[in-house]
Amino acid sequence: MINRYTVIGQPIAHSLSPPIHELFGELTQRRISYTRTECTPATFVETVRDWQANGGRGCNVTMPFKELAPEACDRLSRAAERAGSVNTILMHRDGSRVGHTTDGAGLLADIGRNRRRPLAGRRVLLLGAGGAARAVVEPLLGARPAALHVTNRTAARAEALADAFASFGPVTGAGIDALDAEAPFDIVVNATAASLAGELPPLPDTLLAPGALAYDMTYAPGDTVFMAWARERGADVADGFGMLVEQAAEAFGIWEGVRPKTRMAWARLHDVRTRATDGADGRVDIQRRSS
Ligand code: NDP
Repeated sequence: MINRYTVIGQPIAHSLSPPIHELFGELTQRRISYTRTECTPATFVETVRDWQANGGRGCNVTMPFKELAPEACDRLSRAAERAGSVNTILMHRDGSRVGHTTDGAGLLADIGRNRRRPLAGRRVLLLGAGGAARAVVEPLLGARPAALHVTNRTAARAEALADAFASFGPVTGAGIDALDAEAPFDIVVNATAASLAGELPPLPDTLLAPGALAYDMTYAPGDTVFMAWARERGADVADGFGMLVEQAAEAFGIWEGVRPKTRMAWARLHDVRTRATDGADGRVDIQRRSS
């Protein structure tokens, strides 16, 4: 029997999740199919229900539905409940649906395991306070940084996010204009959508400690503006493709009970990425390519 999965988003045509999960199926010798499904906010919950009613075993959820997705679930993992965000739904044969968030585990696996950058004892900055930032605060604190500072264009959202997770570790929140006083940082994670628009938040020159890692959750064929800015200042840089792959591996593990060994497959995963970004007409579309 083939287990059927899909990723639901809007827009969704450029999602790399189908080829990534098909490769995982091959690596783990599981028979799966994985498609893309587009819907609107008004039809999201119904779309999830229909997928299950038609035999689906699970789905991924991407922009802009992650914060709406808890409504489509009967139960949530504790992490998803605290984050208020679901990117993976497991569909049981009894008709129930359980929501999980794998974004935090994906980010940690990419920074800690793939890039060998331990977070423990480091000063970490999280730029942004939207859905992606919210999903990673608790996992980041679980990695025991010396300090986690959250900053955002809208300061009140950064402050509220830090307050919500204050019992999990040393986290503070403030507006971008107060960053100079907090700098420098060893690891800076850009969880804003600014790179999608080719924009750079107003960052002080003092931001990066020597040897810092600047990690942009957005991924693109070349450097994002944030990566280019950090590279010019001597930082080690990375984009969010590794996070995308690792969060997908976590989701696959939830559905199929086996986590694909991503370290065995990087060459093929990079092929997936290259094929997707080398459009036949040479046009490269990074817009909203989040899952
Ligand atoms: P949201 O819309 O929920 O949040 C957007 C955030 O970006 C807010 O903090 C917003 O600030 C900020 N922002 C938007 N535009 C600008 C700008 N021009 N300058 C400064 N700040 C800005 O989006 P998500 O949190 O869901 O996604 C954020 C990014 O993370 C996206 O690029 C997405 O593709 C990426 N992502 C990647 C994943 C991966 O696996 N690699 C997984 C999940 C997300 P404000 O509050 O002031 O509006």
